[in-house]
Amino acid sequence: MAGIDYEVGLSDTERSVWETVHRFAEEVMRPAGIKLDAMADPNDVIARDSVLWEVHRKHRALGLDDLTGPNSDLPPAQQARLRCLISEEMGWGDSGLAISLGVAGFPKMLAQMSGKPDLVERFSAEDCIGCWPGTEPDHGSDMIYYMNKLDVEPPGRPNCVARRDGDSFVINGQKSAWVSNGTIAKAGALFCTVDMGNGKRGSGGFLVPLDLPGVSRGKPLNKIGQRALNQGEIFFDNVRIPADYLVLTPEVCQAASEMILVNANSGMGSVFVGVAQAAFDHALAYAKHRVQGGVPIFQHQNVKMRLFEMFRKVQAARALSRQVVLYNTTSTRPRLHLAVASKVTATNTAFEVASSALQIFGGNGLSREYPIEKLMRDARASMIEDGCNDILSLVAAESL
Ligand SMILES: Cc1cc2nc3c(=O)[nH]c(=O)nc-3n(C[C@H](O)[C@H](O)[C@H](O)COP(=O)(O)OP(=O)(O)OC[C@H]3O[C@@H](n4cnc5c(N)ncnc54)[C@H](O)[C@@H]3O)c2cc1C
Repeated sequence: MAGIDYEVGLSDTERSVWETVHRFAEEVMRPAGIKLDAMADPNDVIARDSVLWEVHRKHRALGLDDLTGPNSDLPPAQQARLRCLISEEMGWGDSGLAISLGVAGFPKMLAQMSGKPDLVERFSAEDCIGCWPGTEPDHGSDMIYYMNKLDVEPPGRPNCVARRDGDSFVINGQKSAWVSNGTIAKAGALFCTVDMGNGKRGSGGFLVPLDLPGVSRGKPLNKIGQRALNQGEIFFDNVRIPADYLVLTPEVCQAASEMILVNANSGMGSVFVGVAQAAFDHALAYAKHRVQGGVPIFQHQNVKMRLFEMFRKVQAARALSRQVVLYNTTSTRPRLHLAVASKVTATNTAFEVASSALQIFGGNGLSREYPIEKLMRDARASMIEDGCNDILSLVAAESL
């Protein structure tokens, strides 16, 4: 049985969206993800003729973001349900690509938060792939650990500072090599230290076109998992932007960052439920046809029990992540600790289930000719992505 077979009361719209996304995940994302993962040089992932661009193009053509975005006319509970169905399927297809497609819309989301139609128009262009530069070489976990600590700046010098200069801000410094879509993005939702020039300093959230003079990029990062996801540094050398590109002023940035982290962690929960489901699906199919001792290995009691444990964990992670998205979408007070519970549970589950799947595949699980080792590498990266699970848990614990 596939995940969809356990859904209760799917509306016609929900079923049709699920079918569309599942087809996209199976026919477009999976083959592209496998192809991109196998590329030894991360420069090839973003080469002009790379399948990456086709994935982005086809995803845009589906118009999925508008279904659950601020302009959606669906009730919040239905948006929450669709968001889960869509993200789970995209994670099932390929998590690195799912993250690339998701983060591509961050500048548009920040522009929508500004409420300014000209900014929305400027940062919603069809082909405007975005990114979310937050972490810095000297501040990874710090960005999360100090997020909810009022009036406490992370120790040490910031690596990226925007300084007010008349009607502009001037940005100098760099963001870390981990910025997703970092070397390909056309616009950034940049979170950095801001010096307002009136004695006020703090964190700010800026919209930054990344084709401005003074912007340069690092090399695409070479890493263990989610290799389809382009990552790399962004450097700023006296980059000048209009003052109204500061959307989140220091007064509101902390609370807004928390809400963005709530959404990001909830989304990560759904995507990695999809990864766990993919690992389970592969292992179940393999166990039913791999014969040892004269029978399919599924008939050996230990293999069957391992598969049930995997199934149980996937279903538990799915139930939690769905409940969290529903609560946080419909509540007037979304909760970070719920979102973190979902992210940590789903990413740990994806890793555990992929590791169990590898055991079921035996030696073939270790081979790059089979899909499991990739899923395990992809899942491992997720336990650090959008905040190490340890730090997220520490921060979440404070609001219990
Ligand atoms: C796949 C992926 C995608 C990403 N995408 C983005 C992106 O789009 N934009 C972006 O800005 N960043 C992104 N990141 C960066 C990510 O948010 C950071 O890697 C993460 O926050 C951890 O920071 P770090 O790597 O510098 O590790 P560190 O902060 O150096 O942490 C190293 C270790 O020390 C522990 N530690 C650190 N501080 C404390 C503390 N105060 N108390 C206890 N333990 C501590 C951590 O738990 C960890 O185990 C991405 C990362 C990955 C892996």
